[in-house]
Parts: sequence; structure tokens; C-alpha cells
Amino acid sequence: MTATTAWTTAAVLGVAWAAALATLAVRRARALAEVGLGVQSLGEGRPVRPIQARVGGAAGRLARQFNLVAPGLEDRLAQLEGDRQQLRAVLGGLAEGVVAVDARSRLVFANDAADRLFDLGPSAVGRLVAELIRAPQVHEAIDATLLGPGPHRAEIAVPGLEGWPRAPERSFSVQGTPLPGNPPPGAVIVFQDVTEIRRLERVRQDFVANASHELKTPLAAIKAYTETLIDGALYDEEVNVRFLSQIDDQADRLDRLIQDLLSLARLESGHDLYNHIPTNLAPVVRRSVEAHRARAEAKEIRYKLDISAEAERAVAVADEEAIRQVVDNLVDNAIKYTPDGGRISVNLSVERSTIALVVADTGIGIPRDDLPRIFERFYRVDKARSREMGGTGLGLSIVKHLVGSLGGTVAVESRPGVGTTFTVRLPAAAEGVRPGNEPA
Ligand code: ADP
Repeated sequence: MTATTAWTTAAVLGVAWAAALATLAVRRARALAEVGLGVQSLGEGRPVRPIQARVGGAAGRLARQFNLVAPGLEDRLAQLEGDRQQLRAVLGGLAEGVVAVDARSRLVFANDAADRLFDLGPSAVGRLVAELIRAPQVHEAIDATLLGPGPHRAEIAVPGLEGWPRAPERSFSVQGTPLPGNPPPGAVIVFQDVTEIRRLERVRQDFVANASHELKTPLAAIKAYTETLIDGALYDEEVNVRFLSQIDDQADRLDRLIQDLLSLARLESGHDLYNHIPTNLAPVVRRSVEAHRARAEAKEIRYKLDISAEAERAVAVADEEAIRQVVDNLVDNAIKYTPDGGRISVNLSVERSTIALVVADTGIGIPRDDLPRIFERFYRVDKARSREMGGTGLGLSIVKHLVGSLGGTVAVESRPGVGTTFTVRLPAAAEGVRPGNEPA
């Protein structure tokens, strides 16, 4: 071999070696780039493909390690995402508002209910709660929770939440839980709207107070008359019969009150003991109206009942006793609150698929401010007058409940000094339904 040939061979070998090294470097760089792209895909939650490059050394080990670990990581990430979606769905379905904040009272999360409650909007996350919710009571509850270490419970009243200054005040039961840590790195606060529960509690308390008061009044009168009789009035011919008849009147009043209270309790319990069957209303209304004629005529009231030809045959799915109570209460009121010489008319007619019962009087009427409240239990425009007339203050609430349980409505129109008209509308049974009651 000549020197030239030896040099040529060495040069060729050198180039081949350099080329091999370069190829290796390129494959390693490609493997590293593939690992880089794989990690990026993992981070972005996109599917990851195994790394194909076959290289040795550190890059090869990294690629093989990646191929081993990536599927497990992918599963874990998918599981985490699934859990997150599930948690979101659960929190989203809650009626309670759930809010999570960081240590500086910035919003981290709010479920749908909190979003609606506080009108948070789409870009609320990351902003200070103080900027988002204009109710200092809410900030105080969050601050108290973030002080930790234990949970914070409170009941707060928040005025005008819906951004409308006159929106009614709402009550919330607040349960704040700080996240573990000292100081807590954040907190989760749950807002339960208890406005309706508190309102019902107040209604019940008022009802118990009113009912006790109403029961006590006739009892006190009975006791006073009895004691006076025992103390000697029994032998006083001038007063004894009057006192005894007062006792009798008060006992009647107690009886009416207890009957009305029982009717209301029965209606409100939802265990409707009435037997609603197809009923021809005309004979029931006629009987009730006629039962009051003598009282109306004693007051020289012009008392009139009109039943249209169509209404004579009208059938509603209703208990006879329920209809009788409705007519009785309305006609009894009309007679009570119409002065001598007035007029009362009762009208039964059919308007399309509705049966209308109208009781109109020319009595004292009801002031406009009282109209929305007269169907409340014990609400009376003039307490003394109602008592004097033997009223219990429960008649119209019984009417409202009864009519409601029959799927109907009751409305009132009135002008003080002119008169009052109550209109009850009940759904008529389908054409051809045969009534179960006897004709009048
Ligand atoms: P009450 O036993 O006091 O009559 P109701 O519940 O039947 O109780 O009626 C509630 C109040 O509504 C009455 O106290 C009265 O002030 C008013 N009211 C009811 N019906 C009439 C009417 N026809 N005319 C005038 N006021 C009425």
C-alpha cells in the first residue's frame, strides 16, 4: 500500500465515522424532541403516542422511560379530569350556593347556585369577592372563616340581592370551612337560602299566638259571667238570664272557632278527607243560599239567587260539603257586612269550561290596602266588628284553601261604602260526566 492509498483509506474512514456520529446525534436529538412533544401533549391533555426513535444512551433511556410512564400518567390525568367534571356536576346540582376563595378573598370557584344568587357573571374567578358581592354580611362571613382554624357558622340577612334596591331581604344560613393550614390558604363557604323556612316559622308562630288569643277571649268572657253568677247574680232575676245567654253565645263562638281551626288544619295537612266526586253544583248552592234566607230577610236585605240554565246542569269534581262550606262562608260574610236594607245576589253560571259562583253585596266594602290580606288566617279589617258579628277571621282562608284544593280560584273586588263581590271559579267536569249527587 502506498502512502497515498493509506491516506485515502484513513480519510474515508474518518468521513464515515463523522457521518455515523452525526446520524447518531440527529437520532438522539429527534428522540429528545419527541419526548419534549410527548410531555407537552400530556400537559395539554392530548393523546400521547409512544416514542419511535431507537437510540441508546441517556436519550434512549429517557425515551424508553417516557414510553413506560406516559400511558399511566395519561390514565391518571383522564381520571382526574373525570373526577373534576363529576365534582362540578355535583356542586352545580346543589340548591345551596358554594363559593371557594383563596387566602386573600379572591374567588376561586362558584357553583351555578352561587352564580345565580350573587349574579357573578362569567369573568368572576380571580376577582376579589368584595368587588363581586355588594353585601358586607357576606364579606364578614368569609373573613371570619379565613381566620380559622375551625368552621364558621352564621345566619345573615342580605338586602336587595338582585341588584334591585327594593328586592326583598333574604336570609341565609352560612357554613364556612377553612382549608387546612395555618393560616388557611383559602376557604369554602356554603350559602343556604332559608328565607322561606324563616317566613313559615313566623307564620306558624303568629298563628299559634293568634289562635291562643282568639280562644282565650271567649273563655275569659265565659269565666267572668260564671263567676259573677256564682257571686250572687244567679239569683238576680234582672241579669241571670242575660248572663247565661252570653255564656251560651261565647260557647257557640268557641265551637265555631274550633270547627274552623279543625277545617283549616285538615286542609293544610294535605290529608284531604273530602270526597271529590262529579257533583251537580246547582242543588248544593241552592240549599246553602236558602239556609241563610231567614237571616238576610230579618235584616230586610233583598236576597236573590240566579242559576243560569247551563249552570243547572253544570258538574264539577268536588265534595258537596266543601262546596257548602264555600257558599256558607261567602254568603254569611255578605249578610254580616251588609247593613239593613241592602242587596245580596248569588249567581251561578258557566263560562266556557269554568263554573263561576259570584256572591255580590252592597255592604260596607273593604279598603283597597286590606284587600290583598283578607284571605290570611285571622286577618280582619275591623277586629271588633268581626267579633261582634260572631266572625272567627278564618272563613276566607278556609274558602281559599277549599277552592284551591278543587283546582279553582277565588277573587275579590270591593269598594268601601259601595259593596263587595267574591268570584269563585271552578273547572267544569268534561261533557257527559254524570254527577253522583241527588238533584235538589
Ligand atoms: P270573619 O270571620 O272575620 O268574617 P273572614 O275570613 O270570613 O273572617 O273574613 C276576613 C275579613 O274580610 C272580615 O273580617 C272582613 O273584614 C272582611 N270581609 C269578608 N267578607 C266581606 C264582605 N262581604 N264585605 C266586607 N268585608 C268583608
